[in-house]
Amino acid sequence: MQINSKLPHIGTTIFTVMSALAREHNAINLSQGFPDFDCSLNLMELANKYIRAGFNQYAPMPGTIELRERVAEIISHCYATNYRPDSEITITAGATQAIYTTLAAFVHPGDEVIVFEPAYDCYVPAILVHGGIPVYSQLLAPHFAINWADVRSKITPKTKAILINSPHNPSGTIITKNDLEELEKIISGTNILVISDEVYEHMVFDGQTHQSVCTNTALKAQSIIVSSFGKTVHTTGWKIGYVAAPAKIMLEFRKVHQFLVFVVNHPLQLALAEFLADKENYLELKNFYQKKRDLFLKLTSASRLKPLKTSGTYFQLMSYSAVSDEPDTDLAVRLTKEKKLATIPLSVFYSQKTDPHLLRFCFAKKDETLEKAAEIICKL
Ligand code: PMP
Ligand code: GLN
Repeated sequence: MQINSKLPHIGTTIFTVMSALAREHNAINLSQGFPDFDCSLNLMELANKYIRAGFNQYAPMPGTIELRERVAEIISHCYATNYRPDSEITITAGATQAIYTTLAAFVHPGDEVIVFEPAYDCYVPAILVHGGIPVYSQLLAPHFAINWADVRSKITPKTKAILINSPHNPSGTIITKNDLEELEKIISGTNILVISDEVYEHMVFDGQTHQSVCTNTALKAQSIIVSSFGKTVHTTGWKIGYVAAPAKIMLEFRKVHQFLVFVVNHPLQLALAEFLADKENYLELKNFYQKKRDLFLKLTSASRLKPLKTSGTYFQLMSYSAVSDEPDTDLAVRLTKEKKLATIPLSVFYSQKTDPHLLRFCFAKKDETLEKAAEIICKL
């Protein structure tokens, strides 16, 4: 049988590759982004409660009303704007599904989608598989700021969407209010959809605030926001997220969603809805991760690796130029095998495999894991 691949140039995601390598070589895993500590016991008990209470059949297609109402409340509390739980919020099987579904619902063959590089790895394959064309705009190290003149120069009659991500994976940078205004100027009067990946929305540090696209009225009208509970309550393995968008956009999203996954895990949605009634369970996250970031930076301050500024996410970039001139993928593999420390090389987030000699470290780890990792880093 001959297979005419729809994704001939796509291999296995780097996160799977590096986590498998870390396991094989018994290395500390600061590569794939996930906590090595558990979620709250209270949340586990709520999950247990709803499973035992018999919520084990299909949830409503757009998600349980309890969780959609909770999402509306969180958005209203954090960003002072309202989405209707009935028609403007849908619960998804994580952010990856939400992004894929959005692209499936909106991208026609030949449509262009503007993507910023370095780009989180699920964006481009989901554009390509629907016959879309990724159009790249570069975020340059060390600040990884958006070059709006470049974005403007890349808008064509075929531009269907602009995919933004703040706080940004892998760089840990955040967009500003001014960035939202620039984006507004570009899309006003067009049919361009903004897909805004805000999965790290509750992890913004140093007193800065997350600039959600929904805080800008004009942008909100043309945007779909994607978020994920996996990041917020330390349950990446639950794969539950959500999208929020004006009803007209959500209607199209749900047309695809209902046939892609139909519904999402029922008892866990109810557990999340109850758990997030306590605002501390998401508002405290930024302090929690700022402490982790600061600990990691302190522990590695004597290292020859040089940290870049992380304003959000649970990732820290470090330049290894003073240590090695190897390609970053070779170095990441060698560090895992020889030094027992797994990281993510930055070049994998670029279509041309640009290599700015940076490694990404995930600091969503127990303090003792960070201490052990730092010992290795300080010896490099
Ligand atoms: N977007 C970004 C920027 C991410 O880092 C991730 C994963 N951590 C996702 C989307 C996917 O989230 P989920 O696990 O909920 O699918
Ligand atoms: N988003 C996580 C990261 O950037 C990993 C998620 C995944 O493995 N797909 O590391």
